[in-house]
Parts: sequence; C-alpha cells; structure tokens
Amino acid sequence: MAIIKVQKGTKDILPSEMPIWHFMEETANKIFTKYGAKEIRTPIFEATELFARGVGDTTDIVNKEMYTFEKSDRSLTLRPENTAGVVRSFIENGMHRLSAPVKLWYKGPMFRYERPQAGRQRQFHQVGIEVFGIKQATADAEVILMAVDYLHELGLNDLTVELNTLGCPKCREEFKTKLKDVIRPYLPQLCEDCQTRFDKNPLRLLDCKSPECQEVYAKPEIQAVIQGDFICEECSEHFEELKNYLDTLGIKYERNRLLVRGLDYYNRTVFEIKSNNLGSQNAVCGGGRYDSLVKNLGGEDTPAIGFAMGMERLASLIGERAEEKLTAYIVSNNTAEAVKLTQELRSKGIACEFDLTNKKFVKQLEKASKTAKFAVILGEDEIANGEVTVKNLDSGEQKTVKRDELKLD
Ligand code: ATP
Ligand code: MG
Repeated sequence: MAIIKVQKGTKDILPSEMPIWHFMEETANKIFTKYGAKEIRTPIFEATELFARGVGDTTDIVNKEMYTFEKSDRSLTLRPENTAGVVRSFIENGMHRLSAPVKLWYKGPMFRYERPQAGRQRQFHQVGIEVFGIKQATADAEVILMAVDYLHELGLNDLTVELNTLGCPKCREEFKTKLKDVIRPYLPQLCEDCQTRFDKNPLRLLDCKSPECQEVYAKPEIQAVIQGDFICEECSEHFEELKNYLDTLGIKYERNRLLVRGLDYYNRTVFEIKSNNLGSQNAVCGGGRYDSLVKNLGGEDTPAIGFAMGMERLASLIGERAEEKLTAYIVSNNTAEAVKLTQELRSKGIACEFDLTNKKFVKQLEKASKTAKFAVILGEDEIANGEVTVKNLDSGEQKTVKRDELKLD
C-alpha cells in the first residue's frame, strides 16, 4: 500500500529536535514574564472575516495565502498570524478595562499557502508579543527591547534591527499620492502584483521582491520621494523619541525606508530583525504599531504594538542542543523490585525507566548508558540490604547508598 506522507510545506518536529523547541518556548516564558507579559492562547481557526478585516484584504496573506473552508455555512480560516486573534480576544474579553499596558505573548502554529522553500513553510510557528494601551514611543522601545532580549537569550547576536516609520493615515496619504505620481510612468514595466497593488496599496510596491520592480524603484526621482521625509511633525517626534530610547538602551538599528511590512494595519513604527546568518529568508522577526486595529475590529480605540518571530527560522540558527536524557535507568533482574523503585523515584519527580522485557543485566546497563544520566543498580545484595548502587554514567563514578537516601545530582 502507498505510504501516506506529510503534506507539502509541513514538517514533523521530531523528538530529537525537541530540545531546541523546549528551549525556545521556555525562554519565551522566562523573558516575556520578566517584562510583565502574560501568555494567551487563541483558537487555531477563526471567522474568515476576522482576517479579511484584521490583516487587510489588499495583503498577500488574505488574497493568496489563507486556508479557508466552509462548515455549517460559515467561512472559517486557519490563522495565518495571531495578531487578529489576540485583538479579537482582547475586545471580546473586555481587556481594555485592565490597567494599561496589557502585555500578551503567544506561541503556536500558523498556516499560509505559500511556495515552500528553505525558511518558508505552509504550517510554521510563531512566538510573539502584543502590547495594548500605550501610544507613547516608550512602548515601541520596550517591544523592540523584548525582541532583542529574547534573541540574545537564545544565543543569537549576529542580527540587524531595521527600523522605519510609516507615519499616520494623514501623512501617509500625501506620500502615497507622491509615490504614485512618480511611479505611474513605469507602470507597464512592473510585475502583475505591483500593477494591482498600485491603486489598492501603493506602499506595498516598495516591498516587492521582483528585481525588475526594484530596478524601477531605484530610479532617482522615485528614490527622492522614498528618501524624502513625508511624515508629519507628531509622527516625526514619535519616531525621534523611539530612536532616543533605543540609543539609551544601547540597541543598534538601521533605518530602512523601504521597510513597509506586509500587513495593512501598521502605522508609525515598523521594524524587522534580520539574521546575518540565514539565506534569502533572513527575517526572524517582524513587528510594528497598529493603533487603529482594535477600533476597526469593533473595540474601544486602543493603541497597540507587537511583533512575531518565525520559530523554524530561530531553530535553524540555534543549532544543536544537548539531548534531553532520562535521569535514571533502573538495572535489575528482579522486575518486581525494579517496578517499585521506579515508581518511588517517579513520585519524587525523577524521570526514570526500567527494563520492561527482563533482558540480561549487561544489556540493561548498555541501555542505561545510552539513555540516562545515572544507572541505579538493584542486585540481590542491594535488595537484601535495602540499598542501591548508583553509577554516574558520565564519570563512571559508582557508590552504594541506602535506598531512602538516594540522591541523583
Ligand atoms: P516574509 O517577508 O519572510 O514573508 P512576512 O512579512 O510574511 O515575512 P510576518 O507575517 O511578519 O512575516 O511574520 C513574522 C515572521 O514569521 C517572519 O519574520 C518569519 O520569520 C516568519 N514567517 C512568516 N512566514 C513564514 C513561513 N511561511 N514559514 C516560516 N516562517 C515564516
Ligand atoms: Mg510573507
């Protein structure tokens, strides 16, 4: 019979890879908790409309990448990202009544129908933060700091923080008009996507990966508009404040005026963190401010800012982590005593196993040295004397102790 295989663009995360995943997850909990963030878990599927309204219907995510299905006349979608779900939950659970800032973090699988390639899957995982209720640039700085702190704690230092401001809807309108005016003459030379985006969402043009389009956007008259400062005084002050905070915190960044981010809902601050050790899919973190989203989804007017990181990309940078070994393996030819001792140790919280098949003593010792840190030997003498022999499988050191005085460290 034909073997059923894992779906294109999806992967098993195997036990051998788990040390890295546990490390990423435990570090997220540790670091984000330090900043006062609380974990939230929202459903994997939501009403399709949430993403259409929340992510934006001019984005690639909503137009091309969603896994949408019908059930009982309802259109549902596997979440392509988690900000919309967290915002829905924030509104539905009245979290605007909590004292600001409300800091939430999440981790879990996301689904996008994309062309699978290195660093790009159809089911992938993100870990992220959303901070609600603060419009001041202090929140922007704190969110970037949380991202950098987390990455450093994972041992990732060869990174570049790219920063930009998209201004507010008001200043952005003027920029869009100017940008369209200079790009219009080149419209026929642009890719199909850019031709569609031209009217719907001209900022996204700058984000295009096609070399032909980028050649057009590199023209001096277009660069003059891109590099010119279009943002209004208030937005400009906000950006200056953010940069000052980052300088105070010693966080290095580079201004990237082409950074517009794929999602519709961003305003003012946008940022990306790129690894200098990944190929073309080198962004490990993307984030930004989205002050109008909570209101657009029917909530109270609440400013917010957040980021998401791709965990597969982080995992590929973290490299090897030591295998998670059992603490103890019980070696004995007396199965009844072995079971009893195993349960005694497990009840003390010690991870251990014994031989379920009554193999020869030597085979059991071999198994112990492959899987555990300690062999706990229970021979006839030990049983008779209420003792156990503990062998440290790293050092080879061995000692016999009273059973109730057994310590494994
Ligand atoms: P990209 O430009 O790489 O497509 P994006 O702008 O679509 O990224 P976001 O939606 O901001 O990405 O997601 C944040 C992070 O999630 C990215 O920086 C990346 O690390 C990761 N990510 C996004 N899409 C995928 C995917 N299909 N497979 C693996 N990781 C992904
Ligand atoms: Mg993408």
